[in-house]
Amino acid sequence: MSVFDSPAFDAHEGVHCFHDAESGLRAIIAVHSTALGPAAGGCRLWSYASADAAMTDALRLSRGMSYKNAVAGLPLGGGKAVILRDPQRVPTPALFEAFGRVVDQLGGRYVTAEDVGVSVADMEAVARRTRHVCGLSQRDDGSAGGDPSPKTAYGVFCGIRAAVRAQLGRDDVAGLRIAVQGLGHVGWHLCELLHAAGARLVVADLNAQTVERARAQFGAETLGVDRILFAPVDVLAPCALGAILNAESIPQLQTRIVAGAANNQLATDADGERLRERGILYAPDYVINAGGIINAGAEYLQSMDEAAVMAKVAGIEQSLLDIFDRANELGVPTHRIADELARRRIEEAARMHRSTMRAAA
Ligand code: NAD
Repeated sequence: MSVFDSPAFDAHEGVHCFHDAESGLRAIIAVHSTALGPAAGGCRLWSYASADAAMTDALRLSRGMSYKNAVAGLPLGGGKAVILRDPQRVPTPALFEAFGRVVDQLGGRYVTAEDVGVSVADMEAVARRTRHVCGLSQRDDGSAGGDPSPKTAYGVFCGIRAAVRAQLGRDDVAGLRIAVQGLGHVGWHLCELLHAAGARLVVADLNAQTVERARAQFGAETLGVDRILFAPVDVLAPCALGAILNAESIPQLQTRIVAGAANNQLATDADGERLRERGILYAPDYVINAGGIINAGAEYLQSMDEAAVMAKVAGIEQSLLDIFDRANELGVPTHRIADELARRRIEEAARMHRSTMRAAA
């Protein structure tokens, strides 16, 4: 199938494939939309089963970034990069420098950052070859930057508060039972915030030591990774994997709310409808987990200091309340309202851009 016929293509502005013989770099950069600004989205290093699988991943993630950045109200479009990992070679700084050179060739149409498999140190190597990069080590001058996970966790915490207000009619999370799936960068910070706010935590992770640490530090109840999704709780916060909300899992959920950081939580669009039919309120993933890109965007655009970033991340609470209200009014799944909002903002910006170009011609 050609790229143009792929269901994931969805009118991408550009899809770029790069190869560098010396470093072994094979990378795809997908630019979905620059209507709202430079296409921003992380770079994933992954060992794909095939080049087609890498292409599909890049396209899906890139469109997702357009939607995430649009709903977050950022002057950024959406894009994503994937580096096809060669299982025979250890990734080197030279690989990331080569990636930096190809990012630079796009002249700022695409801005990169970390994603799965890529660290701050890798991005520092990218930054030696291009300035179109964020997610670098934080400077000591109070400007935005650094590890995005604490901001993502804070946004998820604010989003849980919104869902609790809309679904349970309560202003705080004190005493609520909240399940957190995955105690990684985001999940752990989220547990800290929820514990401080008086929630009762139920947790699971593949790493037994981390689970033990959560039991000691937060008094968390611990469950096996096969049971966490189905625990009887007030809120389920998926902070590990995608596609966990599907035809098989949804009938077994025992929660009133799903609100967590993981990307692509719905396996298919129909699963948003399944959640609605079961009366479970779903906080669309790319709305609730936008804290990290808000931080990274501020770093790249040098548009906000730390305090302004925190205020914007806190705004996720109101954005979600608006989405919940609208979904309730129309009787449709929440993710559909978020998608429509994103598409509307992108189309309006594209229309304005076209009329400016015509006026200038
Ligand atoms: P991470 O890799 O640091 O943490 C993931 C954790 O999940 C790990 O501790 C892992 O052991 C655990 N895990 C994996 N499979 C599991 C399972 N079946 N059951 C329970 N635990 C399991 O990742 P992260 O940065 O914390 O991101 C978590 C999720 O949030 C990912 O889906 C990511 O794409 C998404 N996200 C992260 C950010 C960010 O700022 N880091 C921003 C937006 C979205």
